Amino acid sequence: MASDAEHGSARRAVEVLAKLLAEPLPAGLYLVATPIGNLADITLRALSVLERAGIVYCEDTRHSRTLLAHYGIAQQLRPYHEHNGERERPHILAALAAGKSVAVISDAGTPLISDPGYKLVREAIAAGHAVTSLPGPSAVLTALAVAGIATDAFLFAGFLPPRQGARRTRLAELRAVPATLVLFEAPSRLAGSLDDIAAVLGDREAAVARELTKLHEDVRRGTPAELSQWAAESAPRGEMVILVGPPVMVDVPDETITARLERMLSELSLRDAAKAVADELGVPKGRVYDLGLALKRSQAG
Ligand code: SAM
Repeated sequence: MASDAEHGSARRAVEVLAKLLAEPLPAGLYLVATPIGNLADITLRALSVLERAGIVYCEDTRHSRTLLAHYGIAQQLRPYHEHNGERERPHILAALAAGKSVAVISDAGTPLISDPGYKLVREAIAAGHAVTSLPGPSAVLTALAVAGIATDAFLFAGFLPPRQGARRTRLAELRAVPATLVLFEAPSRLAGSLDDIAAVLGDREAAVARELTKLHEDVRRGTPAELSQWAAESAPRGEMVILVGPPVMVDVPDETITARLERMLSELSLRDAAKAVADELGVPKGRVYDLGLALKRSQAG
């Protein structure tokens, strides 16, 4: 087996980290992404900031202690979460004003993404402090990359509402979004949410990406209805992301739109008819409006 010294990457990583650690960390707020399961998923820059920061804030000090201890970082950790944010923010802003460097991490992944930090970042920007984001693990991007569903456009919609009525309303709002939907979900709600996704979004490509970067990583692919059945039968556990592909655009011919418009225009204005037909057929309103204008011109002439 090769010794550490024989591994070029180990030698270089140590050199790069040592160089970063030799420089003082400038004052400012640092948003540091941390692993979403596999502790090795941390950047050299993240380690160097966590080691050098004047103060490190995290959601749960006991949880983040494990990560820091794994890398031999002996920092004092302070909690910053949704319950103490209002109280703690003035102290953090005062520390920044005093020229300190403050790092913020969350339990896992990228801070601010369904995690605390947004108000702090806004207030730090408003007060003129430097804000730096250190990229790294993200459950959203890791799931998107592995799902095998279109990645050119995606909408991250966080967690769906827990109650069915509100959840279906939210899904109806998302129905026409021409992008892959990325959703966080808790295991206890997976089957119910997939059921509602099947009912409201219909037959699309979908996936459930579970325990990413961990020992039992698993990605299931299928339609929402198939995945809902799987979830109801096997009650999968762990951390999970749901992905749903964009709506399948059926090409509606101009003639169909014009015929529908012709009927509606006897009762509605062009604007209202265009909106109604666009909603009904799932086509852009501008296209329907233009066809409506052409129809009116042909009727007039
Ligand atoms: N800020 C984090 C990020 O950037 O990944 C997300 C935090 S959010 C409170 C936690 C949710 O992220 C979980 O409920 C789950 O939906 C998703 N998640 C986090 N780690 C995951 C993993 N290893 N595999 C799958 N989903 C994960």
